[in-house]
Amino acid sequence: MLRALLLATCLATPALAEDVNIYSYNQSERMQPLFDAFTAQTGIKVNIVYSDTGLINRLIAEGARSPADLVMTVDISRLAELKAANVLQSLTDPALIDAIPAQFRDADNLWIGLTMRGRVIYAAKDRVAPGEVTTYEDLADPKWQGRLCTRSGLADYNLALTAAMIAHHGEAYTKTWLEGVKANLARKPEGNDTSQAKAIAAGQCDIALGNTYYIGQMMEDPELKADAEAVRLDFPVFEGSGTHVNISGIGMTKSAPHPENAVKLMEFLVSPEGQAIYGSVNAEYPLVAGAEISPVMQGWPALTPDTIPLLDIATYRADALRLMEEVNFDG
Ligand code: FE
Repeated sequence: MLRALLLATCLATPALAEDVNIYSYNQSERMQPLFDAFTAQTGIKVNIVYSDTGLINRLIAEGARSPADLVMTVDISRLAELKAANVLQSLTDPALIDAIPAQFRDADNLWIGLTMRGRVIYAAKDRVAPGEVTTYEDLADPKWQGRLCTRSGLADYNLALTAAMIAHHGEAYTKTWLEGVKANLARKPEGNDTSQAKAIAAGQCDIALGNTYYIGQMMEDPELKADAEAVRLDFPVFEGSGTHVNISGIGMTKSAPHPENAVKLMEFLVSPEGQAIYGSVNAEYPLVAGAEISPVMQGWPALTPDTIPLLDIATYRADALRLMEEVNFDG
């Protein structure tokens, strides 16, 4: 009887353990090939709850009963929020920590970065010469008057860029810069980054702020490829530094019911194979040295990230939001 019970337990335990649960802020369908590859390799089923808001509050509310093992997100501010919410545990696996450069993981290893994107300039190939776009500071120059497009100033990506400007030059400079950028707009901020590439293709503006991966994703979409082909990616820098980047990242919850499977999935995500798949499904830059870059990105300029640490930039997010409101950027 005891033996039968032990046997039953042995049989039942592996079956129950072969799951890993993710709360994810990342776009859903695109990520599926990544998790399918992991399941094919390990037999571990990946269950995902997607949402673009509220997952941190959900983790706090669920506490120790949360089914989530892992949280995935984009944007350094959200990774900082996850840390502040005290819902993550420190990673100790050297395979995870050593794979990711220190500037792209939490100091206490509560999260690690997985991929990187630049916030750069989409330039009209036929109206903007290579080399004309130089720095972010230069976007306030009147030579761009009536030629610049962007999505809302209140969007996370523009708040992060503005926070980086504050980190480099302080608030007073940044406010004047925002006023200059606003004065250069060809139209009121609208749409997402894809809309800005379309506006360039339609001749509504000559340059636009946008994230690198939108162009990569458009190039792979038959309906959007022609618009993307009107655009050249130019990588501006902050004067004396590099290009503004942001990351996607992952952390393990304090209450993870399947911690071993969670670590296995993270190990896969930082492996050369996982990095190459993750990078190519989203057209993002792998963070692990030597991982293969997506073919669609191979002709792009070299990306040299800004030297100010992302977490320092994130501390200026609230100031960036206030400045956007003060200059009525979207109005
Ligand atoms: Fe996006």
